[in-house]
Amino acid sequence: MKPRDILEGKAGDKYFVLGNEALVRGALEGGLNFAATYPGTPSSEIGDVLSEIAGPAGVSFEFSINEKVAMEVAASAAACSLRSMVFMKHVGLNVASDPFMTAVYTGTRGGFLVIVADDPSMHSSQNEQDTRYFSEISRAPMLEPSDPVEAYEMMKKGFELSEALELPFLVRTTTRVAHIRSVVTFGEITGGRRQGDFEKNPSRWVPVPAFARTMHRELQQKLVKAREMSEQSPYNFVEQVGDKSPYGIITSGCAYNYVMDAARAMKMDVRVLKLGMTAPLPEKKISDFLRSCEDVLIVEELDPYLENAVRVLSQREGITARIRGKRDGLFSVMYEYSPDILKKALCEWRGVPYTVECVEVEALTLPPRPPVLCPGCSHRATYHAVKVALRKAKIKDAIFPTDIGCYTLGIMAPQSMADYLLCMGSSVGTACGISRATGKKVVSFIGDSTFFHSGVTGLISAYHNAHSFLLVILDNRTTAMTGHQPHPGIACEVNGMKAPAVDIEKLVKAIGVEFVKVVDPYDLNATVETFQEALGHEGLSVIVSRRECALVADRERRKKGEWKTFEVNQETCSHCLVCVTQFACPAFSSEERNVFINRALCDGCGVCAQVCPTKSIEVRSNE
Ligand code: SF4
Ligand code: SF4
Repeated sequence: MKPRDILEGKAGDKYFVLGNEALVRGALEGGLNFAATYPGTPSSEIGDVLSEIAGPAGVSFEFSINEKVAMEVAASAAACSLRSMVFMKHVGLNVASDPFMTAVYTGTRGGFLVIVADDPSMHSSQNEQDTRYFSEISRAPMLEPSDPVEAYEMMKKGFELSEALELPFLVRTTTRVAHIRSVVTFGEITGGRRQGDFEKNPSRWVPVPAFARTMHRELQQKLVKAREMSEQSPYNFVEQVGDKSPYGIITSGCAYNYVMDAARAMKMDVRVLKLGMTAPLPEKKISDFLRSCEDVLIVEELDPYLENAVRVLSQREGITARIRGKRDGLFSVMYEYSPDILKKALCEWRGVPYTVECVEVEALTLPPRPPVLCPGCSHRATYHAVKVALRKAKIKDAIFPTDIGCYTLGIMAPQSMADYLLCMGSSVGTACGISRATGKKVVSFIGDSTFFHSGVTGLISAYHNAHSFLLVILDNRTTAMTGHQPHPGIACEVNGMKAPAVDIEKLVKAIGVEFVKVVDPYDLNATVETFQEALGHEGLSVIVSRRECALVADRERRKKGEWKTFEVNQETCSHCLVCVTQFACPAFSSEERNVFINRALCDGCGVCAQVCPTKSIEVRSNE
């Protein structure tokens, strides 16, 4: 479906939508006025849809510089009575947690939803932390959809609930919920555009200690109402599978789907308490459920968040039902679940043998497909140039901190230039620590979007603290890894207004860094020379390696019909394999020592032609 359908679909229309698309439609029907984000998978499609339809929908939307700023922008718009949302991936909430924790104290006037997408199994993340704990430490109420239909409904209802309590609500999804599709029947988009207004009231909006103490007391009072809301919530319900029995399952989120699939497939007799509003927990509802069972299994992905709470509740209430879950080793605290994992655990729980229904499948020999930088990716050229420059400078023990983006694939051979990584923007701070601790040459890599996100503060600190390393800003003019969203270095249009670009070189120079150069990595010799110069520089140096993302450039060239590819001249090729073993563009293949370029993959960047020592790589003659 097209993003416009999310806005233009009529009430009663049925659409087969992605969880992230369902969130947007629900938000629009719930009266969304304002949204902000920093892109992060698995939540990035929300921004992709909004960036296309926010204007015609009358919604203010922006890609902020990072999640902290996005949280501040959206929270303050909500304080001005606009129905607002901010969305991010789970690690984004680490960045945004500072304003988030206090936004729960100040509360909100317009409904304010904080959508956070967790990533069990780490499909596109550096860890698999469980966001539900943020609800516990912030006290923000939380909704947890288990599929796109619930995601749509909870967004619609969430604004009302948030506005009624004057509290921000967390909406916690996971990769599976964000990326599965379901049929959603659209309702009416009725919410008119609100005009934000700010009511001056420092005792409400300025948490200096004297006011913050009162705010905390008021928050506790709001939570009493939130608990009642959770007890009454239609998202917390009991479902019977099969006949009556003394067995019960408590579950939430995507795990609910696996529970239902497995329990039905196994023809189990079991009652299921499905929790959709998981903070505050509906303690009475849970206690009643526990009392109605003899044996209860808790099923949830990642940490035993529900299980711990249910065990504490049971002990406090003197409930005798046996409770089982992760703490008994029935489930892992790692990775996504599946119906098979559930079936196995249900068998263990009920003490019946686990039999796998096997389907005979002829063994397929599939070629390995390790993740690689795209053909024509300028990062490959930059890494190659740094390698050659280091070789020429006879530096063998350089250390390479890296950051989060496509270029993290520099970890793969033959580049092998990713030695240390913590989080978004960390490559600058970690370069400081490693270079000072070891005294070795440090070459650190960061993308353009990541530099703006949080690398720039590290660079200010590095300059101020007189650190000495080379920072390479891999500027491919986009936030490539999450789907080509803009960033502050790109001039674009935001909410119908021209948004100017921030100049990276001027910014770096304004910090005080003296050695700042820009290279085009497709010009390999000049790039190598500039890196050599930087490696000889004492102190801090910054090289901006600038070339548009190959995928974006490709698209443009195809539109204009400006297409060329390269081929290997088999007569002059010396079969040295430098192109394959040292440069390793995935368009290359080799049989024995003969080398070929796959025309369908070659993007015509021409960098391999500069790498080849015998100049045997040429523009394809028939083009
Ligand atoms: S680098 Fe050039 S000479 Fe060496 S194998 Fe590749 S095409 Fe042939
Ligand atoms: S020109 Fe060479 S390096 Fe560039 S995409 Fe084609 S094969 Fe790869």
